Amino acid sequence: MTIPDLNIAKFGGTSVANYAAMTNCAKIIAANPATRVVVVSASAGVTNHLVSLANTVLSHSQISETLEQIKHIQFAIVNELATPENITEKLTSLFEAMETLAFHEELVHRDDLKDSLLSFGERMSSLLFTEVLKEQGVNAENFDARNVLRTDSVFGEAAPQIEEIKKLSSKVLLPELTQRVFVTQGFIGSDEQGRTTTLGRGGSDFTAALLAEALDAVSCEIWTDVVGVFTTDPRITDAARPLPELSFDEAAEMANFGAKVLHPATMEPALRKDIKVFVGSSREPEKGGTWIVRDCKNEPAYRAITRRKQQVMVTVKTPKMMLAQGFLQQVFTIIAKHNLSVDLVTTSEIAVSFTLDNPANSVAERLNRETLNELRDFCEVVVESDYDLVTVVGNNMHSAAGVSAKIFSSVGNYNLRMICYGANPHNMSFLVHQDDSTEIVKELHRTLFE
Ligand code: ADP
Ligand code: ASP
Ligand code: MG
Repeated sequence: MTIPDLNIAKFGGTSVANYAAMTNCAKIIAANPATRVVVVSASAGVTNHLVSLANTVLSHSQISETLEQIKHIQFAIVNELATPENITEKLTSLFEAMETLAFHEELVHRDDLKDSLLSFGERMSSLLFTEVLKEQGVNAENFDARNVLRTDSVFGEAAPQIEEIKKLSSKVLLPELTQRVFVTQGFIGSDEQGRTTTLGRGGSDFTAALLAEALDAVSCEIWTDVVGVFTTDPRITDAARPLPELSFDEAAEMANFGAKVLHPATMEPALRKDIKVFVGSSREPEKGGTWIVRDCKNEPAYRAITRRKQQVMVTVKTPKMMLAQGFLQQVFTIIAKHNLSVDLVTTSEIAVSFTLDNPANSVAERLNRETLNELRDFCEVVVESDYDLVTVVGNNMHSAAGVSAKIFSSVGNYNLRMICYGANPHNMSFLVHQDDSTEIVKELHRTLFE
C-alpha cells in the first residue's frame, strides 16, 4: 500500500516553541491534505535544559529549578489551549516520569538513562502540538515514534535500522494514514530491547527523512526559522541569500560540513529514495523556500559556504615514520577503537595531522588519557583545539578553471592550518583559527556571491 503524494512535514524547535508558533504550523498542515505524518522537535530550549540535567552534576535545587523552567515553557502552551483538560492527565504523567529520571542517582553515568530523559522534550511537544492541531480542525493523533524508529543501542548517537523501520512503519503506520494525521517525535527511537535511544542533536530532520523513506513519501518538508537554505548561515552575514534550488549532493555536503539547518544525515534517505526535500519558514510559509532535488537546473562552481565549529586537530609524529609500514594503520586503529571518526587528513614525511569533528564537545571524553597514552606508546602526539572548519560547497571544483585561485584570493591573509581540496568535486575546506572564521566566511561570501 502507498499513499499518493504522501508528504512528511517536520517542525523544528522554534516552530513549536509556543502556542502562536504552533498555530502557524497547524495552518501549514491543514493547507496540504498530502501531509499525513508530522514530526516535531522539542519546544525551543527544552532539549538544552534536559542536556544540562543529563550531563552535569547538579544540586537538588538546581535540578528542581531546571525542571521548573521546562514546565514553564510547556505550561505557557497548555494555558492557551481551549480544552487543556484533554491532555492534563497524559502531560502530568510525562512530567512525573521526567522528574523521576532527572533525580535518578545514576543519571550522569548512564547513557541509556540520559537518552530516556532527553526523549521527554519531543514527547511533551508532540502531545501539545497534537492538541493544537485538533483545535484547528485537523483529525490528528499522537504517535510514539519508538514504535517504528528502530535503532542500534549506541545511546546519544544511535544509528537507524532502515529495513526494520520500513517493516514496522508499513505494519503499524501506513494502513492508518488515510484516516488521520499522525504527530510523532523527531530525534528519538528505540533499540531491539525497547530501550529509548536518540539520533544525536538536531536529529529530528533525520527522523523525518527516515519516515519519508519508510513510507514511500514523495516529499519531506523541513519547516524551520529561515526561509530556506542560504548561501551561508544568515547569522554570520546579512548578505546571505536563500537558494531556490539545491541538488541532493550539494545539500548533503552542506549538512555534513556544518549547515545546521539540516542534520548531517538528512539527505541519506532522500538520496536513496529520490524524495524531494523542502526547507522553509513556518512563520513565513508564503515566502517559499528551497527545494532540494536530484538534478538541478544549474550546477554552479560555488553554491554555498558552511562552517563547523569546535574542531579538534591531532598531529602524530615519529621520525621513524618515513619508512615505517603500517604506521597509519596503527594510528587509525586506535582512533576507531575509541569511536572517534576522522574527518580531514594531511600527511608529511614524518607527521600526520587529522581533524576530528566534535559534536557537542564529545571528543574530549573519547580522546581521553587512555587514547592518548596508546598513541604515545609509539609516536609523539599534539592535540590542538580552537579551530573551525570553513567549507566552500559547489560543483566540479577540482576541474573548473580558476576556482581555487578565486577562493585563495579571499583567504590569503589568514593563517590556514589545513587545506583539503581535490578528494571530492563538491567541496574545498579550510581549518582556521576560531577567531578568524567569521571574517573568512564573510570575505569568501563577498568574493563568491556578492
Ligand atoms: P530547527 O530548530 O528548526 O531544526 P535549527 O536551529 O536546527 O532549526 O536550524 C536552523 C538554523 O540553521 C538557522 O536559524 C540558521 O542560523 C542555521 N543555518 C546554518 N547554516 C545555514 C544555511 N546555510 N542556511 C540556512 N540556515 C542555516
Ligand atoms: N530536540 C533535539 C535537539 O534539540 C532534536 C531536534 O531539535 O532536532 O537537538
Ligand atoms: Mg535543527
